[in-house]
Amino acid sequence: MKKCRHLIFVLGDQLNLDSAALADIMPDRDVVLMAEVREESTHVWSAKPRTAFFFSAMRHFAESLRAQQLTVDYRAIGKGGKHGDPNFASLVDVLADAINQYKPEKIVMAEPGDWRIERQLTAFANSHKINLVMREDRHFMCSRAEFAEWAKGYKQLRLEYFYRTMRRRFSIMMDGNEPLQGRWNFDAANRGAFPKGGPSGVPPTLRVPPDDITASVIVDVQKHFADHPGSLEEFAWPVTREDALRALRGFVAERLAAFGQYQDAMWTNEPFLYHSHISAALNVKLLDPREVIVAAVAAFDDGRVPIEAVEGFVRQVLGWREFIRGVYWLDMPGMREANYFNHDRKLPKWYWTGNTQMNCMRDTIGQTLKYGYAHHIQRLMVTGIFGLMAEVAPTEIEDWYLAVYVDAVEWVELPNVAGMAIYANGGRFTSKPYIASGQYIKRMSNYCSGCRYKPDVKMGPTACPVTTLYWYFLDKHEKMLISNPRASLMAKNITKMSREDRVALRAQAAATLSDLDAL
Ligand code: FAD
Ligand code: SF4
Repeated sequence: MKKCRHLIFVLGDQLNLDSAALADIMPDRDVVLMAEVREESTHVWSAKPRTAFFFSAMRHFAESLRAQQLTVDYRAIGKGGKHGDPNFASLVDVLADAINQYKPEKIVMAEPGDWRIERQLTAFANSHKINLVMREDRHFMCSRAEFAEWAKGYKQLRLEYFYRTMRRRFSIMMDGNEPLQGRWNFDAANRGAFPKGGPSGVPPTLRVPPDDITASVIVDVQKHFADHPGSLEEFAWPVTREDALRALRGFVAERLAAFGQYQDAMWTNEPFLYHSHISAALNVKLLDPREVIVAAVAAFDDGRVPIEAVEGFVRQVLGWREFIRGVYWLDMPGMREANYFNHDRKLPKWYWTGNTQMNCMRDTIGQTLKYGYAHHIQRLMVTGIFGLMAEVAPTEIEDWYLAVYVDAVEWVELPNVAGMAIYANGGRFTSKPYIASGQYIKRMSNYCSGCRYKPDVKMGPTACPVTTLYWYFLDKHEKMLISNPRASLMAKNITKMSREDRVALRAQAAATLSDLDAL
């Protein structure tokens, strides 16, 4: 096509056929533009599994558009498409070239998920007087405007209030205006650890061997991002809508029943456990959150799964996921700049390799680099709180999270890191910093057995760094924690420590912090 009416720009996390951007497409007059650009894999040091997941899902999606007789101008990394320059650096470069080529009346797209990209594209359109139309992203169940309106009514933003509003609004697991079985929350039933022998007979997650498209992506990622972290040997993520639906069905049929009970549990060499592993498919929109919720609730209605499992799961998808997105758009760009504790240390080098003597970190980071996946508690209570207690600069740790997970897009990564894991935003939507000693990790996993460090030891050569830094955090932030009703009980423990022990603790912590790379 020489000239076109609409140039429809589809980003890597907008792979839904029912996207508002495609709503009024005219196959003989419009062109869909998709592009793999370097900047999106280099603005953070994107791990190979993450880049491969996005490129493969995008290439498959382009094929499904072509199957509908739509014209797709797809610019693969290093190839630049039929007409393009092989060296496109950014989305703006690609767009400028395509505008030059097709001279469209309008650029149409769904609103980007990332603040950075929305800014870039709007600035470009404004400075070049281009008619750029961003349509609301209908994938989400709560729009940005609806969330902002909801937030106006609250002094403090709390998931629980939002979640209840959403349950009522969509009438999910409700009995009139009240929650089914009279309770909103089954968290207490959802904190189980595995028995001594560990998990057994966990139904496997769906793994899809690479087809020709994925195989070609793997070759391209190895070639263009050779020095990036992570490996592709185990790459087997679902990258089409059909496979994402199969993954969802497998989870609901086989693992959802135990999801709640073992939601927080961890075990060495068990990367997947009872979780759903659908976050990446959801975030690129191969799956719709409504259908995910319907599938889970139907299993409860049929008596196949207990209420605590389905409530725990619905809370994540309808509650946390939508809440996190709302807060992101409300608080950007301040959220990215926030540094409540003024932390400024470098991220330990082993976050990028897994090469550490701390078993919990080695296992969590190891599976992260191998699969691009770790579950919520590993992200929050292992790599997350360590980053906080080790006083790592927020941007360092935020960039790591955005780089290493296949499901990482900034609207969901940043609030989880800045808001939940490292309290960089000073408790905008959490009531206290999440911190824990090695004892918590011992209780929830088998990581500590055989570790060079001892979880109950805070000082001396076998002291567990998590434990030392936990006590040091209490020591350093005693005043602030004591004055917080949700943290004061925990903080009072430090007041029971003798003055000499506190001095020794500070010395141990200073030694630990001065050489984090050596742990
Ligand atoms: P499950 O445990 O099976 O949960 C079901 C679904 O609920 C997930 O697929 C996800 O869509 C949603 N969900 C669960 N918890 C959250 C949450 N806290 N915020 C938003 N959605 C949630 N999730 C991402 O999708 N991308 C990220 O980049 C990301 N970064 C995170 C960083 C940190 C520090 C923390 C603590 C959490 C992060 N999360 C992120 C949230 C959560 O850890 C992942 O969504 C989850 O581990 C994905 O695995 P799963 O699909 O097996 O999820
Ligand atoms: Fe992690 Fe400490 Fe347990 Fe070792 S002893 S696995 S460092 S919590």
